[in-house]
Amino acid sequence: MSALLEVRGLVTRYRARTRGRAITFAAVDGVSFDVERGRALGLVGESGSGKSTVARTIVGLERAAVGSVKFGGVELTSLSSRAWRPHRRRIQLVFQDPYASLDPRQTIGSALVEPLVIHGLMRPRERRIKALAVLESVGLDARHFDCYPHEFSGGQRQRIGIARALVLEPELLICDEPVSALDVSIQAQIVNLLGELRARLSLSYLFIAHDLAVVRHLCDEIAVMYLGRIVEHASREQLFGDPRHPYTQGLLAAVPSLDPGMERGPRRTLIAGDPGSPLDPPSGCRFHPRCPHKSSVPNDRCRTETPALSPPCEDSIPESFRRVACHLETTAIGASKQ
Ligand code: SF4
Repeated sequence: MSALLEVRGLVTRYRARTRGRAITFAAVDGVSFDVERGRALGLVGESGSGKSTVARTIVGLERAAVGSVKFGGVELTSLSSRAWRPHRRRIQLVFQDPYASLDPRQTIGSALVEPLVIHGLMRPRERRIKALAVLESVGLDARHFDCYPHEFSGGQRQRIGIARALVLEPELLICDEPVSALDVSIQAQIVNLLGELRARLSLSYLFIAHDLAVVRHLCDEIAVMYLGRIVEHASREQLFGDPRHPYTQGLLAAVPSLDPGMERGPRRTLIAGDPGSPLDPPSGCRFHPRCPHKSSVPNDRCRTETPALSPPCEDSIPESFRRVACHLETTAIGASKQ
């Protein structure tokens, strides 16, 4: 059976001005992944890695310059906005700042009913019942129905953002940094809520975050992005147990734990420097200016040659696979064959 969401070779370009020149650059540069039904994929990277642009392109807020996005087998990149409409219901976004997407003059009840009205679903009484049920499912209740956004804490507002996404009964939730603006203790509550909802409603997730601690608790697999490209894609167990890309290793070294009892694993080196700009990415491996291992790869390959993402490598765990874009992988394989 095909995946619920299939992204292949996705490229999203923007125009910008730099040093007085107009340029076009790829914020997302050849990204491919699947989200299987009922599974959660984490997309992780620093600011400028292109992860939010991936989300915006999937839901049609940005145009794909190249590549394919299939949802339930339907190609989305070529749809007109009218043709998009029936699919929009099935893919919902949860934003980092729910307050920005809520009208301060609109009650929460009205905000929850609104998507049902827009999509012409249910009668007024049924809409209210549905909105109340969804409020309850995110840990709020009928008392909150007639309240306004300013009456809620940050964590409660994110619960409302999730409720608003759920009211249309989507199959896929794309969560774009939904907890990064919250305190750590509240982050854990929202991540736990998303985990419960996933089990209860058979949801699939594309969960975008800038640190690995958040995705560890929710995601089955994780794709790590760096300057527009995926550099490592692995199951949760593989990624946290044995990260292979030097960038992933550096991200893990910086992980603050949501769970004070969580093992931090072997000591790893923090990444020095900043990620640079997608407007003018480094040659070869885009991570090479920051990579502590580039001198282990002969012939200056890291600076001159772009490492391809290795093909999926099956191993003894059925759902386990790993793809890594690093010359060290081929150097190590080549050395072990000799
Ligand atoms: Fe480091 Fe080279 Fe691997 Fe890039 S390809 S991550 S620079 S070792």
